[in-house]
Amino acid sequence: MTVLDWQAHEYNEDFYILRESGCIHFEKPFLYLIFGQDKALLEDTGAGEVQTAPVVMDLLAKWAKKKNHAPVSLVVIHSHAHGDHIAGDKQFQALASVQFIAPDPAAISKAASIAKWPINIGHVDLGGRVIDVIPIPGHNDASIALYDRRTGNLMTGDSLYPGRLSVSEADLPVFTASAQRLADFVDAHPIAHVLGTHIEQTTTPYLDYPRGTTYQPNEHSLDLTRAHVLELNDAFIAMGGKLQKLALPDFTIVPRATAPAR
Ligand SMILES: [Zn+2]
Ligand SMILES: [Zn+2]
Repeated sequence: MTVLDWQAHEYNEDFYILRESGCIHFEKPFLYLIFGQDKALLEDTGAGEVQTAPVVMDLLAKWAKKKNHAPVSLVVIHSHAHGDHIAGDKQFQALASVQFIAPDPAAISKAASIAKWPINIGHVDLGGRVIDVIPIPGHNDASIALYDRRTGNLMTGDSLYPGRLSVSEADLPVFTASAQRLADFVDAHPIAHVLGTHIEQTTTPYLDYPRGTTYQPNEHSLDLTRAHVLELNDAFIAMGGKLQKLALPDFTIVPRATAPAR
């Protein structure tokens, strides 16, 4: 039996969701590929020993052929800088046609014209399609959310997904502020789906798979809603600056002793 390294789901003809196989790496991260008239934007490059660039470049070629469109160039951005989201970076940096945005606040701010990190929102124009770049440090110093105005999809990385959201004591104030800004954002914009980068939750409320699980036949669906963004913000407000474990039906806030590495 052949297990593909990646599954590619066509959300629509200009928006792809990729998921890495659990056989390659237990984190099984999700990647997002969004097409404009001039550029395509890829969020994240995978975990572990994985060939990501060939799969993504093949999707770009197939997209152009199917739509009888001139080839578009690729912009690579990251939900944040943890190892399970950047493993394929070198493969893309080796490609001359790719605009590679390093996962750090300075590089993201420059590429997305963010006037003042993290309080201002930036943009990447793909040609007839603008992606908003919202700094949400907390899970990681370089954490961002992406908002696709065309679909209304909000990509929240490891900051909000159906699973264990790790927060360190030191990062609690900045994560709390980011959750508030994200709540303000969803108050002001239509939100179709809130899409994170992992699934660790099962279909049973409050129940998650243990860390390291590779096969998850009863996993939670990938998509969350604006209600979960508000729920995350409310949870931090309720903590009042005192970090504690908090289990909610679709995700859990988990304190970590040190800054998370994933
Ligand atoms: Zn992760
Ligand atoms: Zn992470």
